[in-house]
Amino acid sequence: MNIIIFGPPGAGKGTQSEFIVKKFNLFKLSTGDLLREEINKKTPLGVKITSIVNSGALVSDEIINKLIENIVSNNNYKNKIIFDGYPRNLPQAENLNKLLLKYDQKIDLVIRLKVSLDIIKKRITGRLICSKCGNTYNEFFNPPEINSSCCKKEFLEKRADDNTDVAVKRFETYEKSTEPVLDYYKKMDLIKDINGETDIESIYSKISHYLSLIEGWLCIITPYNYVF
Ligand code: AMP
Repeated sequence: MNIIIFGPPGAGKGTQSEFIVKKFNLFKLSTGDLLREEINKKTPLGVKITSIVNSGALVSDEIINKLIENIVSNNNYKNKIIFDGYPRNLPQAENLNKLLLKYDQKIDLVIRLKVSLDIIKKRITGRLICSKCGNTYNEFFNPPEINSSCCKKEFLEKRADDNTDVAVKRFETYEKSTEPVLDYYKKMDLIKDINGETDIESIYSKISHYLSLIEGWLCIITPYNYVF
């Protein structure tokens, strides 16, 4: 099973992907995470893309498609990928389709999280990431536990592109370039819409329900993670 988790920046794609990865034994392919890794390591690619990512614009399709092929072509991840942040425009969606055909795979489901700009601004400006374990929190809605053994205050960081101005720019980029991708998957009848403004657990239980309906997957769902 390969799935796409779709929605504007700050919709909760990363948070939900983490849950799905753990419960359904999938591999999360987040293009944003891959790019931030390059930036943090200051690789030649990282240096080249820093200002683009920090401005809220999209990195070139050529760069992104290469990163994607590295993973899609790897047999360890075959039919186990959750795409987070990709595809982000029509050429990327077409490229993904070609790649999946080449490696004998397909997309089984596209989950779209619907969230308004007002909520997005709060989610993005409050987002905190633990630099040790990668867990994501929100200082307004979902703060880390005070006595957490790992995610202590000194390890919590903000992303360089998580401020109101860049959030608005990222939302505009989403509306202009990324939303048209929905029509592409609508024609394939793959989209399930979920209200992304409710709490994390209810959103996850709806996603979990849709995943459970995918043929051949019910067998691996334990009573523990099969929640409605
Ligand atoms: P994200 O972590 O998905 O919010 O992505 C953060 C930033 O990385 C975006 O604002 C873009 O600058 C860049 N990025 C991530 N995924 C893509 C993609 N599929 N195509 C182009 N740029 C991307």
